[in-house]
Amino acid sequence: MNNLEELQQLLIEGQKLSMQGAYQRRAPAKKAIPYLLKARTGLKLYVEHEPNQALAWHLLSQVEEYLLNYNAAIFSLQKALELGGRNRKDLKRLAMLKEYGGQWQELNMSPEKLESLDVYLKNKIEFFGCDHTLTYTKEWLDENVPKSRKSKVVRAIQNQGGFCDCEVLMNVMD
Ligand SMILES: [Zn+2]
Repeated sequence: MNNLEELQQLLIEGQKLSMQGAYQRRAPAKKAIPYLLKARTGLKLYVEHEPNQALAWHLLSQVEEYLLNYNAAIFSLQKALELGGRNRKDLKRLAMLKEYGGQWQELNMSPEKLESLDVYLKNKIEFFGCDHTLTYTKEWLDENVPKSRKSKVVRAIQNQGGFCDCEVLMNVMD
């Protein structure tokens, strides 16, 4: 079992490489993923042995957030809060995670899929511009989500402020 300091270091390394800011919902950069996965494995093992260590739960919630597992991040942060006392910053973060978790649940797409939509839209808009509709988003959805889910996903995208392709990039992807 790694010690907590080493795991924290691993997490910091992964975070630096992830190119994510605070509260971003973008998938981490590929080079960060091995660090983050390793930190997560270590931290999960750690809390199994030391379930009353608030810092370990706190770190685990961070790594889950970087990996965009919002429900797991919420669970771990709640544990940390129970053990380590509540502070405003963490409560704010908890609320934020719940909000993001809900939005992603509504979209029901993996980070890899969202990344693929992001790339698709960037290419299309670069070449053809945005015509103020969801044409390219819908094109991508036709290829990537089951037909029966398409209108639900479109509604979820619109709920997040994506009413045309460039808005999807700005409001949903970022
Ligand atoms: Zn537009």
